[in-house]
Amino acid sequence: MLIVKKFGGTSVGDKDRIFNVARRIAEEYKKGNEVVVVLSAMGKQTDILLAQAREINPNASKRELDMLMVTGEQVSVALMAMALDTLGIPAISLNAYQVAMHTTSVYGNARLKRIDTERIQNELEAKRVVLVTGFQGVNKFDDYTTLGRGGSDTTAVALAAALHADACEIYTDVDGVFTADPRIVPTARKLEEITYDEMLELASLGAGVLHNRSVEMAKKYGVQLVVRSSLNLSEGTVVKEAVKMEKMLVSGVACDKNTARIAVIGLEDQPGVAFKLFNHLARHNVNVDIILQSVGRDGTKDISFTVKEDDLDEAVAILERHRAGSLSCQKIDVECEVAKVSIVGAGMMSNAGVAAKMFEALYDVGVNIKMISTSEIRVTVLIDEAHVDKAMNAVHEKFSLSHI
Ligand code: ASP
Ligand code: MG
Repeated sequence: MLIVKKFGGTSVGDKDRIFNVARRIAEEYKKGNEVVVVLSAMGKQTDILLAQAREINPNASKRELDMLMVTGEQVSVALMAMALDTLGIPAISLNAYQVAMHTTSVYGNARLKRIDTERIQNELEAKRVVLVTGFQGVNKFDDYTTLGRGGSDTTAVALAAALHADACEIYTDVDGVFTADPRIVPTARKLEEITYDEMLELASLGAGVLHNRSVEMAKKYGVQLVVRSSLNLSEGTVVKEAVKMEKMLVSGVACDKNTARIAVIGLEDQPGVAFKLFNHLARHNVNVDIILQSVGRDGTKDISFTVKEDDLDEAVAILERHRAGSLSCQKIDVECEVAKVSIVGAGMMSNAGVAAKMFEALYDVGVNIKMISTSEIRVTVLIDEAHVDKAMNAVHEKFSLSHI
């Protein structure tokens, strides 16, 4: 069997954790399996590097930031190769350049285009464990790129697809995918299985277990994933196309605090206004989420939308730049202390009243809803960030997701 295993930052956070992972890899190797391992940077290393960069130059170019960030993963794979060596397991570490992981050219948010598997295959044939840096690639200018925060999951899935691996296991510091973040909802329970679509909604909603592009890719290439703990032997959660058990109405409740609302007030009520507004943002790669437009009155209208909090300053600067020109409006309002809370479930497609039930749960605990958005299998509300814990627990309880 060819197995791809990915270990996140906390799983390789210090010497003991590195040896813990090395022993798990050694076990797999000794069973006669071919093992490809993708690693993240140790602990909070990526954050530390980013903070260092900010101290030197708050406006550092994205190219140089990527050049800096790729070092984190290289430390992990090299140290892991050394740890495996002490256990008598032949291993080799490779970075994105050595493997040849080709990406698009956008620094900081590149997409994997093609992976050359020859080098990896040769190393596997030579009976080595292959340790690959997660999160990074190389673009057409032969520069390093990164895949966006949390991107190592995507590296692992892409490798599993390219190598036609028999299994792709994502090891993390939690036991699997939960009905809610157990740090916020203590009664949350682990799911045995979840569909790609549900997982996609949960990932992009900030459930934080898997990088959303990794799930997109897993779905596209039919790579079945297992999310499990690196710290114990519990079974984990399988992420796949369809789940066998009867579909629950709601599988999980997620929240995302990295969100901010921008309201553009007093825009002209004319064709093309929304196009111009969102086109300016798109051209600068600012992703927009929930969008709400008011009913036009007296020739004006308001458009409000959410962006990632990290993108807020850039988004506002872009809008301000165009205010004098193509985007005339009365004012731009910004609100940071907001969060998204969402319920996700493949079962809600065929059931009425799911949204109402969520709103009732929020009403029960006196939480006001600022914005609402839905998809076939998801309902999202924007609320005050201060109310997130209360709201999550109330909604989780309402849908009887608790383990007791
Ligand atoms: N080290 C990178 C990050 O912290 C990538 C990853 O961990 O997946 O975002
Ligand atoms: Mg992660």
